[in-house]
Amino acid sequence: MLNPTEQCNIRCTYCYYGGAYPGTRPHQTASPAADMVKAAIDLFVTGEERLEPAQRAVYFFGGEPLMAFDQLKQAVLTLEERKREVGSHLENLIIQVNSNGMLLTPDIVDFLVEHDIYLNISIDGPNHDRYRIDRRGRGTHDRVRERTDWLAEYRPEYFASRVAVICVLSAPLDEASLYRYFSEWPTALRALAWDFDLLLPGGEESYSDFRQMFAEQRRVWDLFVASHQLPYETREQSGRYRFAFSHGFLHRSFHRALNQPARDGGPRLGHLLGVQFVPGNEYLVLGSDGTLYSSYEYQSPDFAVGHTDRGVDPLAGVEQLGMFRDAVQAGSCRTCWAAPMCTVTVPEAPFRASDPAGTVREKVTAKRARCMSERENLEQGLRARADIEDTFGAQALSGHREDWARQAQGGSRVDYFNA
Ligand code: SF4
Repeated sequence: MLNPTEQCNIRCTYCYYGGAYPGTRPHQTASPAADMVKAAIDLFVTGEERLEPAQRAVYFFGGEPLMAFDQLKQAVLTLEERKREVGSHLENLIIQVNSNGMLLTPDIVDFLVEHDIYLNISIDGPNHDRYRIDRRGRGTHDRVRERTDWLAEYRPEYFASRVAVICVLSAPLDEASLYRYFSEWPTALRALAWDFDLLLPGGEESYSDFRQMFAEQRRVWDLFVASHQLPYETREQSGRYRFAFSHGFLHRSFHRALNQPARDGGPRLGHLLGVQFVPGNEYLVLGSDGTLYSSYEYQSPDFAVGHTDRGVDPLAGVEQLGMFRDAVQAGSCRTCWAAPMCTVTVPEAPFRASDPAGTVREKVTAKRARCMSERENLEQGLRARADIEDTFGAQALSGHREDWARQAQGGSRVDYFNA
């Protein structure tokens, strides 16, 4: 994950870097130097042969990466040059930009098209202007929507094959109006994919938000279950199925429920996408001072795993697994039924065995909302699996098993949406 800048042109109130989450960096006008970007790319390209068969990706995050478009451009050119030099094992490389879309211009889009770069545009539908605001507190919805509509007209083929619409699910969640918003927006229907994911703040205060959202989420699960009355191939074309399936929490929980580790050596579950650079983690994130992190949410010393001047330190990853072990031992995981399928990982609670008891208590409390959400999703995933099998027969699950097999072999979600 390369962040060409840690600055952003807007100030979403739920942003990891907006000051609402302790233990991560703020928005700041800072970019990694060109030699650091080059070193990070070298590390990625040559560093780990075991990664070859897996789907590999370079993501440009931020801040807003288009604020530093010259740096982004230079990084892409460097990456392509190194790719040409090292040959075939990077053939399945995806390059992707995550953007708020507001700074898109013809020049920028032409470059993205020319270099076959995927683009995710964030637009939250009915809740957009509650959270995605500019520095003066004004909503940004109309501007983002205008740019997205413009892009779909300017480069229709690119839009249909490389552009996804990303929506953060936030309270109050109203599944019906969300469905209406996206299904009645002609531009959204032309995009490669939709992706809805949950906003997961920690702490006691978010309990009530979560409780309100569960009822709406259950309706999305019901939609997903009902869509199995259609045969697999037809189901994939259905707008309602696409809407249900695009909910990241649902997709992840369902696959975990379907493929949970079995004692008799059944399907094995590592992670749904990507590969692991550092033990226990699949991301490597470049900070503006050249520090490499294993978490994009928490770019803090707890998650530093090296530096561009000396590479990745696998022992730092092992130490982070130790934090995970300490977190498991300090909380309720040992007695939690969801543990074999749980995805609440160490970034939620960077425990240290040396933490004083009061700190441990605070951290356990801080992750309770996440645990609650995880258990709700996994419960719904298990219920959906049983309901689909009972109502439509085991055959109705086969498409998902094929999808899983494809992912386990290193195929990508992008291929799935192209199918
Ligand atoms: S849901 Fe919470 S308590 Fe349960 S296994 Fe996951 S992190 Fe542990």
